[in-house]
Amino acid sequence: MTNSSELKTWLNDFQLAHPLVIAGPCSAETEEQVLKIAHELKDSDVSILRAGIWKPRTRPGGFEGVGEIGLKWLKRAKDETGLLIATEVATANHVKLALEYEVDVLWIGARTTANPFAVQEIADALQNTDKIVLVKNPVNPDLSLWLGGIERLYNAGIKKLGVIHRGFSSYEKTKYRNIPEWQIPIDLRNRFPDLPLICDPSHITGNRNMIQEVSQQALNLNYDGLIIETHIDPDNAWSDAAQQVTPVTLKQICKDLVVRKKND
Ligand code: PEP
Ligand code: MN
Repeated sequence: MTNSSELKTWLNDFQLAHPLVIAGPCSAETEEQVLKIAHELKDSDVSILRAGIWKPRTRPGGFEGVGEIGLKWLKRAKDETGLLIATEVATANHVKLALEYEVDVLWIGARTTANPFAVQEIADALQNTDKIVLVKNPVNPDLSLWLGGIERLYNAGIKKLGVIHRGFSSYEKTKYRNIPEWQIPIDLRNRFPDLPLICDPSHITGNRNMIQEVSQQALNLNYDGLIIETHIDPDNAWSDAAQQVTPVTLKQICKDLVVRKKND
């Protein structure tokens, strides 16, 4: 990755929306849930609707996602609201299906970024795509592994790239679900200043009461965007209930953020 200046061009399409806000449920649960959230987020600061269809659960037994049918719901949400749609892919088959249903933004989850074989498989399946691809940091605080994932995609001809900082796991109990270790994404940005950097305060905090504070910290560090888990009924969400906010709260969070003008 020698010339990274082309990497930021896709973000310019969202120039009027700074920071870029991606929001939506941790998981797509029902068609009604996806559509309701999408309609509530339409006409807000949100540009991209997120929802997980295939959920990589750390331990078996939890809700593992609705699968392919969720892509149909997302596509309908896109057609009805005009929002771009984003989902997580972890295998070549996920990529194939996501492309069939016109998903605009594909993200690679933290557990997948930690696995070079899986990232390579995704990169090969996406070869030369003009879709936006976002790479979450690996679960462990390893900058090289994160950079390696980005390079595998870049080398496969994918140019609309960005990264998501979602914090790093630790055996110690802290106030965070995943410790931010802000220096790691800052080091990454120093290496690739034009790679859009998005903060995921939901997975960093694991706690809806801390979303505002961590989002503001990210903006103070000149992050380009935020991805915030948003659900119509957070307490009854099928995954990550404690960290999701309602669309009303999400809009308030966006309103309360102090945003520095770009290039200030
Ligand atoms: C998610 O975005 O819902 C998710 C599973 O995130 P992560 O890969 O950061 O754990
Ligand atoms: Mn989640």
